[in-house]
Amino acid sequence: GSVGYAIVGLGDYALNQMMPRFSRSARSHIAALVSGNPEKLRRVGDAYGVPADARYSYEQYDRIAADPRIDAVYIVLPSGLHADYAVRAFKAGKHVLCEKPMALNSADCERMIAAGQRANRRLMIAYRVHFEPHNIEAMALMRRGAAGNIRFLRTEQLSRTDPASRPAENWRIDRALAGGGPLEDYGIYGLQAALYLADEMPESVAATTYRPANDPRFTQVFASVASQLRFPSGAIAQLMTSYDSNGSNLVHVRGDTGALIMDPATGYSGHKMRLEGRERRDIALGDPTVQFARQLDNFTDAIRDGATIRTPDEMGLRDVRLFEAIYAAAETGKTVPLRPDGRMRL
Ligand code: NAD
Repeated sequence: GSVGYAIVGLGDYALNQMMPRFSRSARSHIAALVSGNPEKLRRVGDAYGVPADARYSYEQYDRIAADPRIDAVYIVLPSGLHADYAVRAFKAGKHVLCEKPMALNSADCERMIAAGQRANRRLMIAYRVHFEPHNIEAMALMRRGAAGNIRFLRTEQLSRTDPASRPAENWRIDRALAGGGPLEDYGIYGLQAALYLADEMPESVAATTYRPANDPRFTQVFASVASQLRFPSGAIAQLMTSYDSNGSNLVHVRGDTGALIMDPATGYSGHKMRLEGRERRDIALGDPTVQFARQLDNFTDAIRDGATIRTPDEMGLRDVRLFEAIYAAAETGKTVPLRPDGRMRL
């Protein structure tokens, strides 16, 4: 049968991107809602036909244990809350689809994984890009050497945050909810792209962070983070991310015989991709917005049929370990050697 999801957190991404896409996933449906705003619960519950007794406040969250209509929770809360809500969902016997970043430190990620194993429930990190046709094709192209041997990867995930005019962004500049800021939120796409296009793990990382003085947006989080990863093959990745820059969402791979340019690379839609070199061409594929439903399909198949999760908890943990290495490199000013699982080699 269809998998019933409880949506935990009715913010921008849940309301405007994921929830409208449930109807495109054949065996996934919205079974319950969890929100702190009673008016929103009523309005959104009515719009999606969620029964009144399947609308929960955060205080009532643990009661989902007694609700058999809920198979899985989808956690779309500020990132610093992911770990606690995931662990409580496992205690309630539910499967967990968790938004990126998995958590803000590797200890929390490990706590989530252990709780899922104890409960014998599945855990997936919502890296939708792994279900997006352009990015899937980019992985295949780079694996078969369409640009030759990869020498450089350059990623830019840049935006200009303005909580004064958009109060919903306040949690994104709060360290307890957002960690270091732009890297965990947006730079994660550049880090992910570097890893799935290079198709290997970095062996070392160097990094720089920047926080301007006297800017109220950046008393707790960084304005910009730049890092450099070195891969065993010799490929080098330059990752740039910022909350204080003109916008950009670029992924650029340069090999010894060609190049791949994705610009924009990882958004909800509107992808553009071009190969240079021997195979020079523009690459336009099907509708990028299938990524939302296909991600749900994968988790539903994992829950119902034991399918392999394409973006599993270990991947979320790996990325959070790399954040820790990037910040350690920036703090010490030293290149940090890495183990194959992303942990720092100390
Ligand atoms: P948002 O601010 O629009 O929504 C967050 C929701 O959490 C709000 O409804 C807010 O009321 C609620 N909330 C509950 N407790 C809160 C607290 N203590 N402080 C602040 N808010 C609280 O944010 P969003 O953009 O929807 O992001 C939510 C999550 O989804 C984040 O983890 C983010 O990284 C992730 N996200 C993923 C994508 C993607 O493409 N996969 C895109 C955007 C956001």
